[in-house]
Amino acid sequence: MKSVRMFDYLNQYQDIEQDILSAIVDVFRSGNLILGEQVESFERNFSQYLGKGEAVAVNSGTDALLVALMALGIGDGDEVITVSNTAVPTVSAIRMAGATPVFCDVDCNTALMDVDLLKGCITNKTKAIVAVHLFGNVVDIDQIREIIKGKNISIIEDCAQAHGAAIDRKKVGALGDVSAFSFYPTKNLGAYGDAGLCYSSDHLLIKEMKKIRMYGFHKSYYSEREGINSRMDEVQAAILNVKLPYLNTHVDKRRKLATLYNELLSSRIARISVSSKVDPAYHLYVIKISDRELVRSNLLSKGIQTGVHYPYPIHLMSGYNFLGYTEGTLPNTERLAKEVLSLPLYPGLDESAVYSVCDVLNSIA
Ligand SMILES: *Cc1c(COP(=O)(O)O)cnc(C)c1O
Repeated sequence: MKSVRMFDYLNQYQDIEQDILSAIVDVFRSGNLILGEQVESFERNFSQYLGKGEAVAVNSGTDALLVALMALGIGDGDEVITVSNTAVPTVSAIRMAGATPVFCDVDCNTALMDVDLLKGCITNKTKAIVAVHLFGNVVDIDQIREIIKGKNISIIEDCAQAHGAAIDRKKVGALGDVSAFSFYPTKNLGAYGDAGLCYSSDHLLIKEMKKIRMYGFHKSYYSEREGINSRMDEVQAAILNVKLPYLNTHVDKRRKLATLYNELLSSRIARISVSSKVDPAYHLYVIKISDRELVRSNLLSKGIQTGVHYPYPIHLMSGYNFLGYTEGTLPNTERLAKEVLSLPLYPGLDESAVYSVCDVLNSIA
């Protein structure tokens, strides 16, 4: 049997190879390798894709979160509420800014922040909420806004897994005060290296983020504030400019494959649920299964790769012991870490692979 991989970009690359190569050659011949035309046009193109705001291209999704937090003035002594059921970078960005992450438990059905528990996490030190649209599913930002009304708390959307997702027909990224995207190769829009982007409709925030990504410079060699070095390079921007026009088609393909999984999988198999208001971007297709390791090895023996996002809740990792969380404090997050299983899903995946995966799963689960 043909093996089924978790992620493979080579099919897609073949289709656009000539465009990618000529875009790269154009950069090399332009005489400008950093913060040039390609970055500027990608910032314009991606913000047009999202809405009416502006974008600041940076070096990674982690940096996009960090730069956003710094621009909001968040640092030492401040608390930032997020979830432990996310990729580690969500939390490491908060720590790099100097703030303290406070974890809100998630809803077991959606795997997203349980907004009903949010109120209990807010203190007078809370300065921001990082809402993570995990798996391409969407957190109800309006509901969060309602809860924090009248408080000086900013909403940052972590859109690293959600390019193209929407709620009430509104695209994620334009729902909060500022948002962070990653273009890590496996994401819904992937560069061929590291890249990220901040988006906001707040022009002052955009100006701050542009300074922060380059040593705090306002003009050459003059730091108007403290900054870092986090620039998207021209080569990655050129590649992203070639790939952006395919994003909608690729998200549609993900939705099509997910719909097929929904139809083919036995009703005995639990999945992540999606609100009827949400058009998910299906960065990952996730099921919940109790004897996960057995099922995984069974699939692997048939040549089918799977993933686990994520096997360890961040609050229980030794690297984050110092935050003081213990086992049992975030029961839904801890339970999901034991049960979630991600099935192969990417735009270049053949529908026949979904049939194979479901055949195996339905026969053993
Ligand atoms: C990938 C990811 C990030 C970090 O993006 P990088 O570009 O790898 O730094 C942040 N948050 C989430 C939820 C992610 O999946």
